[in-house]
Amino acid sequence: MKQYVFSFKDGNKEMKSILGGKGANLAEMTKIGLPVPYGFTISTDACNRYYDENKKMSDDIIEAIYKELAVLEEISGKKFGDTNNPLLVSVRSGAVVSMPGMMDTVLNLGLNDEAVIGLANLTGNERFAYDSYRRFIQMFGDVVLEIPKHSFDIIFDRVKEANGFESDVDLQKEHLMEVIEKYKALVLKEKGFDFPVDPKEQLMMAVEAVFDSWNNARAIIYRQLNDIPSEYGTAVNIQSMVFGNMGDTSGTGVAFTRNPVNGKDEMFGEFLINAQGEDVVAGIRTPKHIDELKDAMPEIFDEFNKTADILEAHYKDMQDIEFTVERGKLFMLQTRNGKRTAEAAIKIAVDMYESGIIDQKEAIMRVEPEQLDQLLHPTFDQKALDSTDKIAQGLPASPGAACGLVYFNSEDAVAAKNDGNKVILVRMETSPEDIEGMIASEGILTSRGGMTSHAAVVARGMGKCCVAGCSEIRVDESRKTIFVGNDTYGEGDYLSLDGNTGKVYSGQIPTIEPELSGDFEKLMSWADEIRTMKVRANADNPNDSAVAVKFGAEGIGLCRTEHMFFEEERIPAVRKMIVAKNLEDRKVALESLLPFQKEDFKGIFTEMGIRPVTIRLLDPPLHEFLPHTPEEIKNLSEQINVNYDELLLRVDELKEFNPMLGHRGCRLAVTYPEIYEMQTKAIIQAAIEISEEKNIAIIPEIMIPLIGSANELDFVKKVVLETIENVFAELGKTIKYSVGTMIEVPRAALTADEVAEHAEFFSFGTNDLTQMTYGFSRDDAGKFIGEYLETKIMEVDPFQSLDQTGVGKLVKMASELGKMTRPDIKLGICGEHGGDPKSIAFCNAIGLDYVSCSPFRVPIARLAAARAAINQAE
Ligand code: PEP
Ligand code: MG
Repeated sequence: MKQYVFSFKDGNKEMKSILGGKGANLAEMTKIGLPVPYGFTISTDACNRYYDENKKMSDDIIEAIYKELAVLEEISGKKFGDTNNPLLVSVRSGAVVSMPGMMDTVLNLGLNDEAVIGLANLTGNERFAYDSYRRFIQMFGDVVLEIPKHSFDIIFDRVKEANGFESDVDLQKEHLMEVIEKYKALVLKEKGFDFPVDPKEQLMMAVEAVFDSWNNARAIIYRQLNDIPSEYGTAVNIQSMVFGNMGDTSGTGVAFTRNPVNGKDEMFGEFLINAQGEDVVAGIRTPKHIDELKDAMPEIFDEFNKTADILEAHYKDMQDIEFTVERGKLFMLQTRNGKRTAEAAIKIAVDMYESGIIDQKEAIMRVEPEQLDQLLHPTFDQKALDSTDKIAQGLPASPGAACGLVYFNSEDAVAAKNDGNKVILVRMETSPEDIEGMIASEGILTSRGGMTSHAAVVARGMGKCCVAGCSEIRVDESRKTIFVGNDTYGEGDYLSLDGNTGKVYSGQIPTIEPELSGDFEKLMSWADEIRTMKVRANADNPNDSAVAVKFGAEGIGLCRTEHMFFEEERIPAVRKMIVAKNLEDRKVALESLLPFQKEDFKGIFTEMGIRPVTIRLLDPPLHEFLPHTPEEIKNLSEQINVNYDELLLRVDELKEFNPMLGHRGCRLAVTYPEIYEMQTKAIIQAAIEISEEKNIAIIPEIMIPLIGSANELDFVKKVVLETIENVFAELGKTIKYSVGTMIEVPRAALTADEVAEHAEFFSFGTNDLTQMTYGFSRDDAGKFIGEYLETKIMEVDPFQSLDQTGVGKLVKMASELGKMTRPDIKLGICGEHGGDPKSIAFCNAIGLDYVSCSPFRVPIARLAAARAAINQAE
């Protein structure tokens, strides 16, 4: 019979898919002899069965839980509900992939009117016992019975106020007993039944609540955001309680074995004396730096350091550890690989390689390509910062620079973002309910909480700038106001946050491009050695080309020439060319564009040197270049000296019902070959001139877009080749070049063997190929893709990550067909997917020669290509 319940002695760290991350690591720590409070794990299979059986716990699982409970009672020498030595447990979720704060936890389970006496007797501390009891009712009421937490808070605060107390710890046993009675009355009023007193009943209700929390709204959003399949399910960990709130020899803390912000090899964390774990994470009390534990509890500090070293060496990775000290004894409650910023991920990976802990491949696998995005984006301009006074100082919880309009709750932040604004989310402290607002924001500012508070941990994971625990500001969420000294800031005011220093500024501060560290260069050089696929950039001007080279691009995979047409000094000539009545007029207009185009290409060739550059001839529908309103048309008619009515007629003629499927791409060259003639001339002349000037051999790659058939390509290619021959004859000089095509029309993919007869290279334009394969308009899909994702018709937006089963099949097939005709055909991808790590892995698997993406994504693509090569070799 299948096992659904595992004692910590039964498991190990490899069993994550059954025991969840937390359960597997608790078992592993037990196995290597660390002090872990004893317990057991109910498996993810049990969760899936619970859902399969219409949210009902089956009898065999209940029986297995009771059996393990008996073992737990025996090992701990405690008994559920005992008046002398009661067993109390924690019930925690434990997903396969860590989902911090997303699901539910119940602590102190097992308390009732008898057990509380037992706890008081056992500890000799009545106040502690009754405080634990009231915390338990509150947590159970909130998590399991779904009574809003603030209903309990109101009761607690009223008793506190009625007695004139400042702090929670001022409440004594009798006050806590009063709170408990009122809590129970609240439960009866809200639920119509008494608070459950049987610990076994409490336990089963809590286990079901944890299973239910797998499908709460915030867990679902988190899974979507992190690509976690819903079939994984969650495990539940039942563990005997240890108490950090048993006086001054007790405490609790969270620590990372290395600094998760910058990666330095130093212990990083926080602790609180006389507190339970939730107090640290929720940011309710401001904790102390872990180094201060040395003075507070020297022996515990030493033991904790040793244990942390053991864990890091055992897992060969930076650990995020939760611990509790109960009356002078250290207990480990959790360990997991710690979340870290990109900067820290790189430093830790490089340091661990250099100290022989991991090899280069493992170092590469330790850094998520998407994370690099954090490093490649701007920070504040130092000069502007120096001349600006901060308005407040908080903790530098997650690096980066953010500037935006202030909003005070998740809903407003999301709405403002949807209106096109940059947003700063300001909260007293964040909770998992704020996740959507955090996603929508550029940065997050909280007035409470430490470096391991929810805001800090989640922001670091998202790569968002965060300033936490900024106690110099007072946040009034209901009045949507920040008070700082005598100043106030309200909704819609600008603030700038520096996540590297924790400083908060009023107004907008300019930003500058980032500098990349030596460790970054090292890791990228290892990635470059390992990857087999090349990485190029999509760039259409010298500036972007320079950025691309700086980020390690090995060429340009797509230069969209139309972008050059929009510049102010050329657009009149472009428009003149488009509205020309006859060939002669069109040629005159094109002639005046030639020098501009040539200069553009010379600039790009100069930046790129001998790196390959693929230049795509004109692609978009012509009417995109024309004015639309009567006013604009009138202005143009005066500017280019064409009769207004005639111009109006021509603009009208150029309108199309489906421009994306209309007169665009190579179809333009079938009707107006002179456009491609001019562009080809400009490319070849520029290549010859720069080759001579720099004494290098530039080999331009001329790319024809939107081909649907071999004949079409053959026709247009002849125009290009004839032009090249003419330029050679005119100048009496020749250079090497190649002519290829984009594959972005499904028919071109289906007949790629024929198309390859005329193409020296294929570049997959997966934006159009996705559009035409799905029949989803690129410009309109945003209106409905959201629903497709929500209803799970689609897992991901196919315009962001390649649809491997459909569009990818066409790409693979076209590659194979192309190679059959021309074994040395060069294959690349230049749609947006060229910068998406998952799509990059697919391109690697089907043997493309290169991917091409926006300059800022080049390092991401280099790392993703290396990881794909490593994974493929395994
Ligand atoms: C494509 O279609 O994938 C492509 C790169 O071309 P564009 O986005 O310019 O249509
Ligand atoms: Mg295209």
